[in-house]
This record gives sequence, C-alpha cells and structure tokens, in this order.
Amino acid sequence: MPVLVVGSIALDTVKTPVEEHTDLLGGSASYAALSASFFAPVKLVGVVGDDFPESEFEFWKSRKIDAEGVQRVPGKTFRWSGEYAWDLNTRETRSVALNVFENFQPVLPESYRNTDYVLLANIAPTLQAHVLDQMKRPRFVVADTMDLWIETTRTALDALLPRVDLLILNDSEAREMTKETSLIKAGRRIRTFGPRYVAIKKGEHGALLFGEDEFFSCGAYPLEDIHDPTGAGDTFAGGMAGHLAGNVKERVEFSDLRRAMIYGSVLASFNVEEFSLERLRRLTKEEIEKRYDMFKLMSQFEVIS
Ligand code: AMP
Repeated sequence: MPVLVVGSIALDTVKTPVEEHTDLLGGSASYAALSASFFAPVKLVGVVGDDFPESEFEFWKSRKIDAEGVQRVPGKTFRWSGEYAWDLNTRETRSVALNVFENFQPVLPESYRNTDYVLLANIAPTLQAHVLDQMKRPRFVVADTMDLWIETTRTALDALLPRVDLLILNDSEAREMTKETSLIKAGRRIRTFGPRYVAIKKGEHGALLFGEDEFFSCGAYPLEDIHDPTGAGDTFAGGMAGHLAGNVKERVEFSDLRRAMIYGSVLASFNVEEFSLERLRRLTKEEIEKRYDMFKLMSQFEVIS
C-alpha cells in the first residue's frame, strides 16, 4: 500500500568539522520519502522554487515516488544550514530561509486523498493538520516534530496529537514537551496527549517505543564512520512508515511497530554514512535486509539457567 509523505524539501548547507557542502538536496520529506520508497510506493507533498533541479523529479519518478503533489512555484527553495561539533551529535542551525515555504498551502491531488498510511514529516503542525483535513480516512498516521514547534506553536501541536497514531520525536524534545527528566515517564505522558504510540529516538543510543501496555527498546546500529547525521530522524520516520504501509495488511499491531522501528534504524544508519541523500540513492534492498539480520543477531541473547 502507498504512503503519503508531506514535509520540507530543501537545499541544505552542511558543515562538519572536516567538510562543508552547499546546496545539497535535503528537507524532512526528501529523506523520509526516499527511505519509505524502499518498502512502499510514495505520494509526495511539498513545495520547491524555480531554482530546484529538475533532475530530482526524474529521480523520484525512477523510484516510484509520485511527485504530483509537489508544487513548483516562483521564488527560491527552502534553505537550511547547520554546523556539527566534533561529536557529530551536537548541531547548531546557522540559518533558515523559508522562501517558497512561507506561503505554502498544501493541496492534495484527488488521487492522494484516499491513502491509508500517512507520514507527516517535520513541518509546522498547522500544515500537517491541513494535509490531514484533506484526507478521507487514513488508517494509520505517523507524525514527526521538532523543538521549534514545541516551543513556538504548542497549541497547534497539541491539537494535532489526538489525530496521530504514532508520534516520533527525539529525547530532548520528549523531555521538553513533558518537563519530565525520565524518558520512560515522558513517553507514557505523551501518550496521554493523544497518540496511541510514541517512539523516542536517542541518536546513537537507539530508540524507545511505547504502547498502552507494551514497551520496546532497541539500540542503534554501531557505525565506525559517520559523515553527515543530517536527516537521520527523517530517514528513521520514513523507514518506519514505509515498512508499515508496505507490510501490514490488517490492523497495525505492536509487533509490526517493533519491526518497523528496526527497519527505520537500519535506514537511518545507512543515511549518515554519506552527505545528503547520497548513500540512500545507491542503497539496495539486499543491503537493507543484510543489515536488518545483523541487527537481529546483535540484539539476541540467551539466559542459561
Ligand atoms: P534532522 O537532521 O532529522 O533534524 O533533519 C534535517 C533536515 O530538516 C534538513 O534537511 C533541513 O532542511 C530540514 N529542516 C530544518 N529545519 C526545518 C524546519 N523548521 N522545518 C522543516 N524542515 C526543516
């Protein structure tokens, strides 16, 4: 089954302690859509300016990513610039230029409205809600968010949460949202705000998943070389939503979410190996399955009494 993905499509400038690259393809929807496309057809929603390379539209076409919902409008594409510290974990945003995003009102093509699985990748919660308003009756809604929206548009975010099945956020955002220091308390608390399930990402330390009476914790795939952590969270969300859309036939169960979380982690681990979407562009299904199996092997243990 297809998954609808809405979010930002950007041209990023990324600086690490050893490299700097400008005007790279980025944005939450770019990462999430390509990641999801390994598991399910994608219907992409977003906006780009007239400076955005036409070759990306051709690339999306080659990957079963339907870009009918991507508007090209006069003006410049959304631009973001970030700089990483030596630990490649701490990041500072150097600049953000909304450009064509400023007046963006997503309009879903008719063929998108019936989609069962939806990923509201990171954008303003009002825009995420606007997309949901145009959908018939999605079966499973995944949403991602960031500290900016928790701090500046909390009312809109709170209004969205009851409409979300799975909310994905990182550890500092979960703490900020709940004012809890314990991530276990934070995850449980966020469920009371509306989402049936909550996934809390802990960067290189893995992720936690909360359901009503269920809990799951997984590590991150251990990597020797990280080149660019940008988009890891979006790739994780895309992998999770794509895997659910492509594999769950009936109701989404907790066991489906556990598996989806490992696939999300696998996809994110590949993404950080190179700048921008370069690693994802040449990633294969076989490589994904091989790393998934390795992940499983590394997480298994036996208690011998
Ligand atoms: P992540 O590393 O998962 O936080 O995602 C990084 C991506 O988010 C970059 O490619 C940026 O273009 C995009 N981004 C940064 N700020 C925003 C924002 N305020 N709204 C939407 N996307 C953003």
